[in-house]
This record gives sequence, C-alpha cells and structure tokens, in this order.
Amino acid sequence: MENELLVKQRKTQNTSKAVKIAIAEGDGIGPEIMKATLKVLHAAGANIETEAMAIGEQVYLAGNSSGIEKSAWDTIDSTKIILKAPITTPQGKGYKSLNVTLRKSLGLFANIRPVTALHPYVKTNFPNMDVVIIRENEEDLYAGIEHQQTEDVVQCLKLITRPGCEKIVRYAFEYAKAYGRKKVTCMVKDNIMKLTDGLFHNVFKEIALEYPEIKSESQIIDIGSAKLAANPENYDVIVTSNLYGDIISDIAAEIGGSVGMAGSSNIGRNVAMFEAIHGSAPDIAGQKIANPSGLLNAAVMMLAHIGQAKVADKVKNAWLSTLEDGYHTADIYQKEISVKKVNTDEFAEQIIARLGIQPKNLNLSTLSKGSGTIHIPEYSRKLRKKELVGVDVFIDWQGADPKIIGTKLSEVNAHNLKLKMITNRGVKVFPNGLKETYCTDHWRCRFVALDAKIKSETPIYEPIEFEHVVALLSKLNQKGFDVIKTENLYEFDGKRAFSLGQGE
Ligand code: NAD
Repeated sequence: MENELLVKQRKTQNTSKAVKIAIAEGDGIGPEIMKATLKVLHAAGANIETEAMAIGEQVYLAGNSSGIEKSAWDTIDSTKIILKAPITTPQGKGYKSLNVTLRKSLGLFANIRPVTALHPYVKTNFPNMDVVIIRENEEDLYAGIEHQQTEDVVQCLKLITRPGCEKIVRYAFEYAKAYGRKKVTCMVKDNIMKLTDGLFHNVFKEIALEYPEIKSESQIIDIGSAKLAANPENYDVIVTSNLYGDIISDIAAEIGGSVGMAGSSNIGRNVAMFEAIHGSAPDIAGQKIANPSGLLNAAVMMLAHIGQAKVADKVKNAWLSTLEDGYHTADIYQKEISVKKVNTDEFAEQIIARLGIQPKNLNLSTLSKGSGTIHIPEYSRKLRKKELVGVDVFIDWQGADPKIIGTKLSEVNAHNLKLKMITNRGVKVFPNGLKETYCTDHWRCRFVALDAKIKSETPIYEPIEFEHVVALLSKLNQKGFDVIKTENLYEFDGKRAFSLGQGE
C-alpha cells in the first residue's frame, strides 16, 4: 500500500471535509500550550476536527507502564494524525518511554526537524540558517540489540536495512519537492562502515537520480557536522541515519537558537505525529506563561502534511510577525528588542490579530510553494543468488599471544573448512600480526573452504554447506573452545558481502 493517507489528503486540500486529528493535551504546560495552539489554528481556518485522547502521566500513574490506553490506540487508528503536547514521564523504574512506544508501534520512520533562525528576536550567530533535518527513526544502533560476549567485550548491533534506507531517502527527496527545497545532503560514514553506511549512501545515490531538479550531495558525517556547525546557511535538507540524525538535529537546534521554539514531526506510512521538541516544563506549569511556539510550529507542520499548506503559511507568517512586533513570552523576552512581555493566551491573541499579515524581516513561510504529494512506494525486494562461503567464529579466549590460538585453530578441520585468519577488534593478528596490536579476550576466527584461492588480491571463495559450519562448531566445542557466536559469510550474485579484516 502506498502512503495513501497523505496522497489523498493533499489532493483534497480544498474540499470541505474536516481532517480528524487526535489531540494529546499532555502534562505540565501541555494543556496551556495546546489550548493556545488550537485557538490559533481554528482562527486561521484550519479545516480540522479534534478528538481528545488520554496519554501520559495520569495513565502511567494508574498502573499502565507504557502510558497509553487501548482507547487512545483506537483514536489514533481512526484519525491517523496526532498533535501531541509534551508529557511527563514519572520518576522511577518500569515506565517505558511513550515516544519510543508510539514511534516503533506506529512505524513512524522519519523524524523531521526544521531549524530556522529568528534573528534578532531569538539570538543566533547564523541569521540565515534554514535547515531541515530528516532522521531515520526506527533502526541503526537504536534497535537496542546488545550483548555482553566476554568479560571484556560488549556489543551493540547496527542494523541498516534496504527498505529502511529507501523509505527515508525517498521521503527526503519527496519532502524537498513538496516544500520547494533545492538541495538534499546525505551524511554517512561509509569510508569506515562500508556495508551499513555504504548501503545508505548507495540508496541515496540511486534515488537522487530520480530527482534531477533537486541538487544532491554527500558528506562524511564528521566533517559534515563540523561544516553544519560552522556554516549552517549552506544546508537545505539533510538526510541521515538514526544516531547521526539524533546528534546533528540537536547541534542544529542549538546553533539556530530555537530549541525552545522548534516543532518536529514523526512520519509513518499511515500515521503521523507532531510535537514540540521541549518537555512538559513542570517548573512553570499552571502559571500560564509558557511559550506555545514549539507546539504551534509542530501544528504548522501538521497542516502542511495534511494538505493545508496555505493555512500553515498563514499561521506561521502571523507568528513571525508577532515576534517581529516584539510581543514575546517570558522565555524569549529581551529588554532591548521586546515591546511587551505577554502570557500564553495573550501571545496567541497577538498571533490571531496578525493572521493574513506577512513578516517584514524574518523569512516568509512558503510551505505552500512546493508541488505534488509525498509518495512512498511499497518496497520491492530484488532476489539475488546467495551463497555461503565461510564463517566467522567468535571465541572467548583469555590468552595473550595470537600465535597460540592461531596454531591450535589451524589444526582444526571440518569437512573442507580451515582457518584463514584471526582478528582482534577487527585488526588481523594471525597469521603475521604485529606484536604491538592490543588484544582483548574476543577473537574473530575466519574459516573458509580449503580450496578457496585466498592468497590472491581478490580472493575467490568456494561455496560451502551449512553442515560444514555445524561440524566445525562441534569440533571446536569438543576441543574446549568457548564459542560466543558465529556470523555466516555470504556472497550475493558472486560479490563478497562481508568486510575484510584490517590487514587481511
Ligand atoms: P523541559 O523542556 O520540560 O524544560 C527545560 C527548561 O525549559 C525548563 O526550565 C522549562 O521551564 C523551560 N521550557 C520548556 N518549554 C518551555 C516553553 N514552552 N515555554 C517556556 N519555557 C519552557 O525539559 P525537562 O525539565 O528536562 O523535562 C520535563 C519533563 O518533560 C520530564 O518529565 C521529561 O521526561 C518530559 N519530556 C517530554 C518530552 C515529550 O513529551 N516529547 C520531551 C522532553 C522531555
């Protein structure tokens, strides 16, 4: 199924049927900023019908460890769009993060964070910054698959999938097209992680070809984030994987000065959720002084997403005009610039009074400038010939000299499998390792077929049977080796699909 909801809704932009929205009022300042936000949306003519749902602190405290009840799931199922105020996660163990639950359960694969400078009304060194970070939201090191394998070594699995890459990269280009953006930058570390980040980068290059009207470029994440911090004006849309995106979206928000005012969205194939970046601010809850801008900006993103981009621009431009005219909540009040310190409701009233007015100095909101609908096709798997050509056996061994374990393992033969090399933390230590290489108790021992031509520059591996692996493991076990785990070595369509050891 395609991203039907979005396609349909953007096409029916001018029809009179209101779009249903699930509203989570949240905790702390949540209800105050939600009330102000909805007041502005209705005054601007947003064609929405709201349905409240209870999630958050009270649900947690009532004994539901995930903070969300069945009735709220039903509401989400019928609306597919969520506008969520921040919630308070109670202190103490056993409470699961509601955001992670919603993101993973609903397949919200893309996290979108626009950061636009509001200089001089909000302090920043980069007055022209206008970046959108599109972060993969479901996989990478965040799959949470971790194991302690030996006394010295723990492992976290980094999972990058082709469907995951295709969805997020296509979303980035479609987003650029739909919102009139000019360039998409991919950030990866494929000079080191050739298979995982390499896949992300390859998918980026493939999909970029389908969007010749949008400029595309790739950067290595380390220099890319340094350049982003130094010259954010040079970036437009950035697409990256989960961990890198987590880090650079915070860098961008921080240097843009808008951590407290930015909205974000979590987009899935069927459901989308919009929220402020900040938390529930219990320290100022109930005082009616909170700044509703973060949630309002999330609501602006929601309107654009559901095909009401003109209303989104109207709200955003009125908000920008309010900031320009110096009506500021306490958190952004500056004596030299502000005209009046306003509370939450007064701030909303000032925005409503400016609906239809455009900002004079700040960048005009042009969410309605792009064209088309965001379209994420269903993934189609291409089947290639997969052949088993060897196995990496990971062994817990407390010794220090690789020659000792190497010699012992060289004597083990199972069918036609024999030891090719041993690495320790990825560096080859047998045969012919350097005595300087530091070794832990975690040895990766590569076994391939006896008749493989492994001495040539590009080794030719011979297919093996899984039975041979099982026999090898049995022999290793009999000889007293502590096998931690194995990784099968495959070729796909005759191409090596595993990394070589450093120095192999
Ligand atoms: P916070 O963002 O709530 O507050 C940090 C500081 O910023 C506080 O001084 C607060 O008063 C101020 N602040 C935040 N939003 C503001 C606004 N709109 N207007 C004016 N001032 C504002 O972060 P925290 O104190 O670390 O977290 C408080 C609670 O929020 C915790 O329970 C946390 O788990 C939760 N939280 C929820 C979300 C979410 O639901 N998406 C995100 C982050 C934190």
